[in-house]
Amino acid sequence: MDRWVRSLRRSKVSPSSDRPIAVSHEVERRLGGTTRDASTVFLAGAECPFSCVFCDLWTQTLSGPTPPGALSRQLTHALCEIQQRALIKLYNAGNFFDPTAVPPTEDAPLLRLLEGFEQVTVECHPRFIGERCFAFADRLRGELEVAIGLETVHPEALPRLNKQMTLADFDTTASALAARGVGLRAFALLGCPFVPHDEQLDWTIRTVEHAVASGARTASIIPVRGGNGALESLAAAGDWARVTLDLVEETFDRVLRLNLEDAVVQMDLWDLERVSDCAHCFDARRRRLGAMNLSGRSEPHVACAWCGASVGLDRP
Ligand code: SF4
Ligand SMILES: [Zn+2]
Repeated sequence: MDRWVRSLRRSKVSPSSDRPIAVSHEVERRLGGTTRDASTVFLAGAECPFSCVFCDLWTQTLSGPTPPGALSRQLTHALCEIQQRALIKLYNAGNFFDPTAVPPTEDAPLLRLLEGFEQVTVECHPRFIGERCFAFADRLRGELEVAIGLETVHPEALPRLNKQMTLADFDTTASALAARGVGLRAFALLGCPFVPHDEQLDWTIRTVEHAVASGARTASIIPVRGGNGALESLAAAGDWARVTLDLVEETFDRVLRLNLEDAVVQMDLWDLERVSDCAHCFDARRRRLGAMNLSGRSEPHVACAWCGASVGLDRP
């Protein structure tokens, strides 16, 4: 399967190992209804050793192992652009505790650079979460949160994603993180391969509910974007279809109506234009979803004379 997924990939962007790929800023809703400034640093590092069929993160990774010192140089540059030292997410398009992606010699300098932040979020596959992660959490001044892609709880789709993670792996890791006082953020796919199109909304909601029941205090719904090669091949075989912006909005409306009290649920808006079919209403609908991320409540639908958006969406 790995070979099949990789054989369909196009070429990489090949970023520099001395500069972060990007730094972005947003305001995040927190449990209890408050908001905090959050910065995300997209680090350039080694490619993830897994080959999930839906993943396109490899496009912006280095060709070999991350050179020692590269990530602390990148973070030093990123910090020049970060005014509010509240929440920071370090996303390296792989696994933060994978020694090929983040050399263990980087832990000490990164910990020093992260002093002053209330919370640091890193992403990692359960296979790489162990003593190094817990030692990092113990030495960090702020709180550590680990983001894990749960992807789906659909029992047939999850093993076919080639993630090499079972639901039991996720649950065991979630318990271990909780036992060590490390926070958990989870990603749930909308538009998950191998899940029938008319069941996408239900399985995404079940996935969010499972993540929250397992201790995730933030759950982020990721609309799957095409373009990694494998997804197009799966689409041709009838195993994947791109989601629509209507479905994204309907799913988020339904999730927020659950009034989950133990977690903040967000819709990931990165590259959202790739699920839009109407340029006339896209910006307004994206703003609506952004407002919902901040308020945690559904907002009035956008009406569009061009594509008929909002028609039939206000279902109870
Ligand atoms: S584990 Fe994460 S980064 Fe690695 S291939 Fe899967 S989705 Fe992509
Ligand atoms: Zn429209």
